Amino acid sequence: MNRDHQGTGQRAESCVYLDYAATTPVAPQVAEAMSRCLGREGLFGNAASKPHRFGVEARAAVETARGQVAELIAADPAEIVWTSGATESINLAVKGAARGARGRGRHIVTSSMEHKAVLDSCARLVQEGFDVTCVDPDVDGTITVKSIERALRRDTILVSLMHVNNEVGTVTDVAAVGCLLRERGVVFHVDASQSAARLPLNVREMRVDLVSLSGHKMYGPKGVGALYARSSCPSPLEPQMHGGDQEQGLRSGTLATHQVVGMGEAAELARECLGKDTDATAALDRRLRDLLGAIPRSFLNGNQKVRVPGILSAGFACLDSEALLMALRDEVAISSGSACTSDRVQPSHVLTALRLSEEAIACSVRFSLGRYTTADEVDFAATRLSETVADLRQLAPRWAEEAMSSRQPEPCAQVQRWATG
Ligand SMILES: *Cc1c(COP(=O)(O)O)cnc(C)c1O
Repeated sequence: MNRDHQGTGQRAESCVYLDYAATTPVAPQVAEAMSRCLGREGLFGNAASKPHRFGVEARAAVETARGQVAELIAADPAEIVWTSGATESINLAVKGAARGARGRGRHIVTSSMEHKAVLDSCARLVQEGFDVTCVDPDVDGTITVKSIERALRRDTILVSLMHVNNEVGTVTDVAAVGCLLRERGVVFHVDASQSAARLPLNVREMRVDLVSLSGHKMYGPKGVGALYARSSCPSPLEPQMHGGDQEQGLRSGTLATHQVVGMGEAAELARECLGKDTDATAALDRRLRDLLGAIPRSFLNGNQKVRVPGILSAGFACLDSEALLMALRDEVAISSGSACTSDRVQPSHVLTALRLSEEAIACSVRFSLGRYTTADEVDFAATRLSETVADLRQLAPRWAEEAMSSRQPEPCAQVQRWATG
């Protein structure tokens, strides 16, 4: 490892990246595949161009990539639609399915811990006269099949849930929900942005109709995503983008060959590396958990038994997470709440959905590990974190007060303590 963790070298170069849930670096093999699509000698042609060989070659590359993404989730290549990212996939899935099923009903079910792309798409649909039921997760960040079943109505047309939560890492039993919905002919969309390179995905076994994927969350490039749309979905998807009728008319616009090829390569790599990645990340996750657990008055958010390794939300009492992030910014890259909302001074809507107190939310941070994380990085991050937490607490009046009165923190149902976790 050519990092310098001893503090003698340049900090900026040795900053440990533990923010894989925000985005992942492009894998070297992916970057290489992408570069073959650029420049005069590359596959720069328009995949929709016929019949010259520039178009033919670009089309072939796009179709290879489509096959690679399809294989990752056990889908048919014809069921994959390229988009600009999971946000667009989600918009197409949620708005497209709802608008396409308008004649059959107007009720949609989702959860309050979804990504903003889902929540804001639903909010838009409410303005158009749809009814949305937002199911709250349990306080441990899990969505039960029962809670979804209770929310269903005779006129429910669509259910949208995430597979793995991007802030606390909890996994939803998608197959169980899928079973329930398939029986009732309700369209089921799953946001799999965080599960794609972390868990095996099989759209048939999960009984899902629509799945959103993001290139940059699985070691592919930013600006590309895919939507799986089951060929025998109970209702047609209404396109949200109009123009040249590419992607079977579902998503117009010239395909970004290099991005698409990159995502395809990333999907193949994810499939090949899944077992190895999962084992390595699980070991590092346990290591980080143990090290953080040694910090006094720390806690974990979310159910630890159904959490995917590599996404870990932890809190440190009497501390401001923003101050912690700031103090560590040149050494350890972590995040507070989700990156998409972190430019606003709003408590994370996910942690709020878990009914954490404002205080617990304000002192929570997310660690996310990935393919390139090493044990040295985890050790360094945990050491610097525990030192910085101690330093910052020295400055916190509440910490001193509570130490003086030796007040024990209230055992709190929302928060899973290390001892019990
Ligand atoms: C990152 C993310 C998205 C958005 O993906 P983009 O490709 O960045 O648009 C949606 N849902 C979840 C759960 C995510 O983590």
